[in-house]
Amino acid sequence: MTVTEQLGALSSILTHGDLHSLFQPIVSLSDRRILGYEALTRGPSNSALHSPLNLFAVARQAGRLSELELACRESACRRFSQQKLEGKLFLNISPESLLEASHPPGRTLQLLQRYGIPPSRVVIELTEQTPTDDFGLLYNALYHYRDMGFSIALDDLGAGYSSLRLWSELRPDYVKIDRHFIDGIHQDAVKREFVGSMLQMAKASRALVIAEGIELQEELAVLIDMGVELVQGYLLCRPQEFPPRDARALLPKIDPSAATLTEETSDLSALLNEQPAVVQTTPTATVLEAFRKQANLNSLAVLDEQHQPIGIVHRHSLSDVLLQPFATELYARKPISRLMSDDFLAVELSQSLQQVSRLITSRARQRIEEDFIIMQNGAYLGLGRVIDVLKLITEVKIQQARYANPLTLLPGNVPIQQCLTRLLQQGRESMICYVDIDSFKPFNDIYGYGRGDEVLLCLAQCLNDRIDQSRDFVGHIGGDDFLMVLGSDDWRKRLYMLLEDFQNQCRRFYRAEHLEAGCFVALNRQGQRQEFPLLSLSIGVVHLYPEVCTTLDASQLAELASQAKHHAKEVMGASVHVINTREAEVMATLNQAVLG
Ligand code: C2E
Ligand code: MG
Ligand code: MG
Repeated sequence: MTVTEQLGALSSILTHGDLHSLFQPIVSLSDRRILGYEALTRGPSNSALHSPLNLFAVARQAGRLSELELACRESACRRFSQQKLEGKLFLNISPESLLEASHPPGRTLQLLQRYGIPPSRVVIELTEQTPTDDFGLLYNALYHYRDMGFSIALDDLGAGYSSLRLWSELRPDYVKIDRHFIDGIHQDAVKREFVGSMLQMAKASRALVIAEGIELQEELAVLIDMGVELVQGYLLCRPQEFPPRDARALLPKIDPSAATLTEETSDLSALLNEQPAVVQTTPTATVLEAFRKQANLNSLAVLDEQHQPIGIVHRHSLSDVLLQPFATELYARKPISRLMSDDFLAVELSQSLQQVSRLITSRARQRIEEDFIIMQNGAYLGLGRVIDVLKLITEVKIQQARYANPLTLLPGNVPIQQCLTRLLQQGRESMICYVDIDSFKPFNDIYGYGRGDEVLLCLAQCLNDRIDQSRDFVGHIGGDDFLMVLGSDDWRKRLYMLLEDFQNQCRRFYRAEHLEAGCFVALNRQGQRQEFPLLSLSIGVVHLYPEVCTTLDASQLAELASQAKHHAKEVMGASVHVINTREAEVMATLNQAVLG
């Protein structure tokens, strides 16, 4: 398309209002509810200006950005209002258009009035597409919007030129982490660090974080574990003209097989109180009677015809209402749905304790102590109590601390054994890697134990960086021996990166002369002077296949890994040795060892 053709196409779009608004839901995980919808514009289908990126680029060139913005906003508000979508409307606005002299002030408020959308339901998403040198004007324009009652979101955080400055000066209500940081976050320690920092900054500045562009279950699992509350992406729902209204169908079941090996993969059964619930048409008097009869009943779940929870009644809030004059007479025959609260936390039985604890702490302070609902595939099972979650979490933490290695704080031998047992029970194909440092003893002798400890900490970090946080495991057996379990297909690549990473990281520990010579001289076990190569890793790997899981136990598996490590140690310098559990002779040797 030539430039003239593009400009012609733009003119025609603007004249005929040939624009479409798609909506993509933004989901709140703790409430299992749709917080709102982001409006995303499309030009005519089959046209080069279908994509908003092209469309806006051409309008920018033609100096018609404001005009296009307004047309998009009009279409978004109209469609949002026509469909009676609930929650907030997130509108993208290019900051430059606010700065254009032709920008007609007050038009957005008029628009909203026309479509009956109060400004408190609108969030202005500010994207930084070009470097903004006129901060002053931008801030004025934004404060102007804020004064009108809009909330502000900073879009594509991390992708722009000055996001951090914008963040600290604009104090947005929401920040949307750019897709770049979400893409493959389960396999990338650096991305996790970045997102972790953004979450901390958001806490300090009281902004709510939205993670956008989530495509994979694994990405979602890591984000949930990190405490992200608001999510958006193809995994949940693509942008569409008629978006769904019920979040429950959007939240894919948390896949229990993707649970990590570090935490208990057991479900929430330990928390479940199988209390009967009531249907929404139950008269208030009946509910009151239930509370009267059962002194220890704190809450009752309210269900719809499909047995799905739609609300909760808490003893304290019910008595608050009924203490008012004539309230009992007024409400006695009314259905309980009139008095129930629809702001409740519901979790799936298959979720982990850690996930539930995160969800509870992300709730508003006044709701934090309330009972929560436990479901199975969206249907009501029973209630859970926050105090029980606290007790269990404390127990788990104490257990972890008891069995952790005091230097690296990694799980020690008991959790390693438990991890191997779980691995065999789950019958997952995985790689059990026994990692050992070459030349570590002579290094310790020359450089001292303090430096040696630094090397061990460095290795612990390198191992942590290479694993997939959503499923893998690292433990510290003791001394310079570590155990790592990898589950992804690219395990070879990860191991070779680990070898390289460790050697590079260690360079900072050597004296210059050793680094230069590529070796150091120390006494060997026989007390003779010997030349040792610089530190490297030997890794023994057991490739565990599901079909052999039934015949192996955890200690045999550990024994095999240790054998693999001995083979790797026979090779000078960095090396990897793999034992394949599918090979008959491996099992034969093992059986012999057991029988003999
Ligand atoms: P954005 O505001 O960051 O919007 C998110 C983009 O990511 C959208 O692309 C959306 O369709 C896409 N997306 C959502 N989930 C996923 C996912 O899981 N994976 C991937 N790969 N992509 C996902 P879209 O609709 O093409 O919009 C591109 C950009 O154009 C938007 O980025 C926004 O900056 C701009 N834009 C769209 N509509 C408007 C508008 O009406 N006004 C203004 N000023 N800008 C708009
Ligand atoms: Mg956006
Ligand atoms: Mg964005």
